[in-house]
Amino acid sequence: MTHTGLWRNVRTTPRRTVLISGAGVAGPALAFWLNRCGFAVTVVEKAPTPRSGGYPVDVRGTALDVVQRMGILPELRDAHIDLRRLTFLDGDGGEVA
Ligand SMILES: Cc1cc2nc3c(=O)[nH]c(=O)nc-3n(C[C@H](O)[C@H](O)[C@H](O)COP(=O)(O)OP(=O)(O)OC[C@H]3O[C@@H](n4cnc5c(N)ncnc54)[C@H](O)[C@@H]3O)c2cc1C
Repeated sequence: MTHTGLWRNVRTTPRRTVLISGAGVAGPALAFWLNRCGFAVTVVEKAPTPRSGGYPVDVRGTALDVVQRMGILPELRDAHIDLRRLTFLDGDGGEVA
């Protein structure tokens, strides 16, 4: 195939589309890689906004390899939380453990 023919092929071939349900951890990570592989990805999420709180997630083992390959390790290091104490609360906000 000539160089010109290759460009024509790229422009006229519609990108395959993928719909991902859920923008937690797996959804956006899958969207990242599928997008990089040339898919046109849409992510839908039932929650009205991104979660602003919650339990910190450890990135280790295979996950560390993945975030390095995604190029987001510096941002994750910046967002690092140095966890020293964890408190479990009951429904009224009282300390349980
Ligand atoms: C207390 C706790 C501590 C944890 N600690 C760690 C840890 O330290 N390290 C670690 O690696 N893992 C940890 N985990 C596990 C980790 O949270 C899960 O493995 C991870 O969140 C799974 O990611 P996920 O994207 O598959 O699902 P989720 O993060 O649950 O995301 C699913 C998303 O899909 C959305 N959704 C659901 N149904 C629909 C629908 N019908 N339409 C649209 N959107 C929808 C949800 O709102 C949600 O945003 C912990 C889990 C818990 C509960």
